[in-house]
Amino acid sequence: MTVHNWHLGREMAYPYPPAYPERQFAFVFNINRCIACQSCTMACKSTWTFSKGQEHMWWANVETKPYGGYPMFWDTRTLELLDRVNPDGMTWTGTPGDDRRRPWGRYEGRTIFEADRLLTPDSARVLGYLPTDEEWNSPNIYEDNPVGTRGIPGEYHKTGETLPEHKTWFFYLARICNHCQYPACLAACPRKAIYKRPEDGIVLIDQAECRGYRKCVEACPYKKSMYRGNTRVSEKCIACYPRIEGKDPESPGVALETRCMSACIGQIRMQGLVKLERDGTWAEDRQHPLYYLVHVAKVALPLYPQFGTEPNGYYIPPRWVPRPYLRQMFGPGVDQALERYENPDRELLAVLQLFRRSNRMIFGYRIIEGPKTYEGTLRGRKITIYNDTVVAYGRDGAELFRTAIDEPIHVRSRAHANSI
Ligand code: SF4
Ligand code: SF4
Repeated sequence: MTVHNWHLGREMAYPYPPAYPERQFAFVFNINRCIACQSCTMACKSTWTFSKGQEHMWWANVETKPYGGYPMFWDTRTLELLDRVNPDGMTWTGTPGDDRRRPWGRYEGRTIFEADRLLTPDSARVLGYLPTDEEWNSPNIYEDNPVGTRGIPGEYHKTGETLPEHKTWFFYLARICNHCQYPACLAACPRKAIYKRPEDGIVLIDQAECRGYRKCVEACPYKKSMYRGNTRVSEKCIACYPRIEGKDPESPGVALETRCMSACIGQIRMQGLVKLERDGTWAEDRQHPLYYLVHVAKVALPLYPQFGTEPNGYYIPPRWVPRPYLRQMFGPGVDQALERYENPDRELLAVLQLFRRSNRMIFGYRIIEGPKTYEGTLRGRKITIYNDTVVAYGRDGAELFRTAIDEPIHVRSRAHANSI
């Protein structure tokens, strides 16, 4: 079977014919803002995986790159497998552009669905591996371990580090299930127990159908399907679907973002439902913040697009990290994304203010121009800041909230001054 994978800019082998939802659950994480407070991790854990048999399960986790991973080394182990079926490398041709069917050029290597030379047994559909029990032990192993030049113990760097690339670096990578357009978990399940909801593209495991063969655990390259020993079935992130459906008691009838998004202290996360064309590409929706960040500003990129699952999680890459590492992780759009993020225009600055001003899902925005408040230079470039206001709208077109570029300053009254 052949499907069009727009992340790869080409047709791709997949075991099932394409079936696209009307709207797709998607999210953007801005890595530059993450502080690894793990509020997202605990919000998810305390909602969905606090029971016996789920102790090792972290549907949402934040790991420290480059050494950390949950399960341990999940990405490097999958990249090694892909390396073996791509002796000429995981290469891209063409250049990033405005074509929504191939915004980052064309991926010329094989994906995990096209790796037939390594598949065992021959009937297997997806290239993958099953992590050992020990590898699932820690959601953020090697926390804060940097790579690069080490100083003398007890001494600090004399000069510090400067952009564009730091020699000593690490960053936090927040992860949940990507509710992929072409899920590897679904492709590999011999029971057909995994399905993608037609209304929002959320990928679920039917607990009554699952027999715990763990084919999904083996196949998911992001390792976001997990096996539960005491029930003998697999479980995964359910995208907090009662909240997406507006059935959460906190806000009846209004679509709320997931628990991990809502809890985010660093304001790195925004989640929404994007409209799809009949061919699975994103329909033009100019005033949708996720459409704007991915297709207009082009600052948000998919995680490991070369795996081939067309993940629906997008990341604004960290500015200080060596570019080859980022290109391997987020594909050929990295340089353009960082150039734009470091030199934001009025609209990008305004859309970045929308992150976490509300837990209600945003379906559109509008900018009201405000006065000039700053003029100066930043890293040799002239910048001008305007105090624009950005207004967010819900599914029914009603205003959700409005917020400005300049953050308001509140002065405590003497009666409530700190007493310490
Ligand atoms: S991230 Fe993994 S578990 Fe989630 S939909 Fe994609 S393949 Fe399935
Ligand atoms: S809550 Fe936000 S800032 Fe904190 S670790 Fe999670 S993603 Fe990062």
